[in-house]
Amino acid sequence: MSDTRFAPSPTGYLHRGHAFSALFAAEAARTSGGRFVLRIEDIDQGRCRPEFADAIFEDLAWLGLTWEKPVRRQSAHMADYRAALAKLEALGVLYKCVCTRADIKREIAAAGAAPHLSEPLYPGTCRKRAANEVADRVANGASYALRLDVAAAAAIAGPLAWRDRAAGPQTARPELLGDAVLARKDVPTSYHLAVTVDDHLQGIDLVTRGQDLFVATHLQCLLQKLLGLPTPAYHHHKLLTDPDGQRLAKRAGSPSLRDLRAAGTAATALRGDLGFG
Ligand code: GLU
Repeated sequence: MSDTRFAPSPTGYLHRGHAFSALFAAEAARTSGGRFVLRIEDIDQGRCRPEFADAIFEDLAWLGLTWEKPVRRQSAHMADYRAALAKLEALGVLYKCVCTRADIKREIAAAGAAPHLSEPLYPGTCRKRAANEVADRVANGASYALRLDVAAAAAIAGPLAWRDRAAGPQTARPELLGDAVLARKDVPTSYHLAVTVDDHLQGIDLVTRGQDLFVATHLQCLLQKLLGLPTPAYHHHKLLTDPDGQRLAKRAGSPSLRDLRAAGTAATALRGDLGFG
């Protein structure tokens, strides 16, 4: 029995790639007799909009999906993330980072770093900075992020692994993500921390999501271990592409589900087209 989830961010309208991902999760739950859970990932209040969340419910219902109620909205659960953050803090694996984006860019350029990663890793500037310098800047009102000291955290956690239904047994290598940001001065969580906490609190034992998030699992396994949470099974599924191989999600102007609906596409036809007929 697998309890699964679909966890969209309400930053725009859902497109065919989201439909595939939601149907994939719902189908994995249904065929195993498990629960299908929905989560609205709205911690980034600058980019999320309530009308997009409403549209998610409408579009998924149109697709013929039903999900467990109530739906968890991340913005309503900051206390859960604060509690998890306090646990990590007690382990001594977090540090305050006062670097600006420009600081980080400059430092990376100077180090001539990491051309193979799409986003260069944070070079650890504030981990090495004198503690009183960081404290002074924070006391003077500087914004800061809380970063994970990934080497220290990995040393505490020991070996990490997950079982991936598509890719087989995996060794988690959280250092691939560097000293990731886990919270900010005003927001006690990040994507990684919230997902880790929520998947546990929502009782998810099979995380299904696109291959674009495969790398995130390396870090989320580490957070699970540090927080004393079990590691679920994972299934990172294929990403839909258009005929010239471009990823749908990234492509400006790829039609939303509501565009398709308005143009007369039937939900059953779309489901069939996506392999869930
Ligand atoms: N909210 C994330 C997104 O829309 C997905 C999170 C996840 O599945 O872990 O890309």
